[in-house]
Amino acid sequence: MRELLKGGIIVSGNGTVRQDVLIEDEKILEVGNSIDAGGAKITDVTGKLIFPGFIDGHTHFDLAVAGTVTADDFETGTKAAIAGGTTMIVDFASQDKGDTLANGLKHWHEMADKKCSCDYSFHMSITDWNEDVRKEVKDMIDAGITSFKLYMTYPAMIVDDGAIYEILKELNKYGCFAGVHCENAKVIDAKIREAKAAGDNKPSTHPKVRPDTMEAEAVHRLLVIAGEAKSPVMVVHTTCEKSFREIREARKNGQTVYSETCPQYLLMDDSLYEGTFEEGSKYIIAPPLRKKSDQEVLWKAMAEDEIQTVATDHCSFSKAQKALGKDDFTKIPGGMPGVETRGTLLYTYGVGKGRISLEQMCRLLSENPAKLYGVYPQKGVIRSGSDADIVILDPQKEDVITVAKQHYNMDYAPFEGTKIKGVIEKVYLRGREVCHNGEIQAPMTGKFIKRGCNSL
Ligand code: MN
Repeated sequence: MRELLKGGIIVSGNGTVRQDVLIEDEKILEVGNSIDAGGAKITDVTGKLIFPGFIDGHTHFDLAVAGTVTADDFETGTKAAIAGGTTMIVDFASQDKGDTLANGLKHWHEMADKKCSCDYSFHMSITDWNEDVRKEVKDMIDAGITSFKLYMTYPAMIVDDGAIYEILKELNKYGCFAGVHCENAKVIDAKIREAKAAGDNKPSTHPKVRPDTMEAEAVHRLLVIAGEAKSPVMVVHTTCEKSFREIREARKNGQTVYSETCPQYLLMDDSLYEGTFEEGSKYIIAPPLRKKSDQEVLWKAMAEDEIQTVATDHCSFSKAQKALGKDDFTKIPGGMPGVETRGTLLYTYGVGKGRISLEQMCRLLSENPAKLYGVYPQKGVIRSGSDADIVILDPQKEDVITVAKQHYNMDYAPFEGTKIKGVIEKVYLRGREVCHNGEIQAPMTGKFIKRGCNSL
């Protein structure tokens, strides 16, 4: 099966060029200006932008948390992903404390295999570090799991500073790294006790007990530890100026620090917690939404190539699930959906507003995550020999985000009513048009991708 995409503008991390793309079966066969179609189906994409499929390095589907399970499993979550131009997700498999990494990985394969509508892989969350687990690191890498996750908070996930030091050092031996959730667990716990004692129990209490200082403290501590371990590390969901300053300082000292942020931290602020319980609870995520001034710092950091990727931290709960915390804000399941709207939001409010370039958008959504997570140049670029994972975006078309049009298993959209300029028309997954104008054409054709190591 051959298809020629004719007349589009190909976006890469270092430029845009008006060229045609010839797809054969799962791969891009040729990119150029005078390709012999040779009986291929010809698709006119004149004036449209052609991006390499987006990669979301931070999703949580089918995750059991806070006494419930995320609204989206791998089936609905990856349908939403592909509709939004995301042709690969990297979710988080997790070790249970006292158990092996292997069992964690097996469990996540059972949840995801045969259900995904985009390609997929997992990071491995290490929650219990010991000499047996150390031996399993190589097994994970051999299985194509080449990135890891560590938490500096949450009782079920937390690892201590000594473990972080040893793990980062061990991963670095293989050219691998971990993404780390940075928040100071103990001070946040103390602030929660303080708030509860004062009868302060609304969604608006959430950002007060998880302040930016306690994120930045953990980022600082992490980066000092990573420096001591002489190992690279990623700060996942960087939310604020104070954390970003720590990242910049560590880089000045010669450290390799990757930074990820998410659309909600770029476009939403903590005033959203002030409404009714139903409204405020939708935005309960950790770390919390910050100030408008933090958003500006993050946009500037992206414009200066100081943030490597925009992921989503998609972790969705219905209104009824959020209501589990009606009488106790700490029982509101933390997380929001986002995997479907990342590309169009970044296009509209990043490229469209002149905050970042098309090339930067491509690096943030496709090229850099492909490199960081070891799938480049198989993915992350429109190039002969690469997987034909392709997003066709109409830069002139306008739309409005609304829950009714989305593919999530959700009863609200955090960005409900938000205007979009730049609509995704077609999404190809390994050569096949799997989504057309928001309609899924070939569900559950995603496959597990064995990954190599970081090449960014
Ligand atoms: Mn997360």
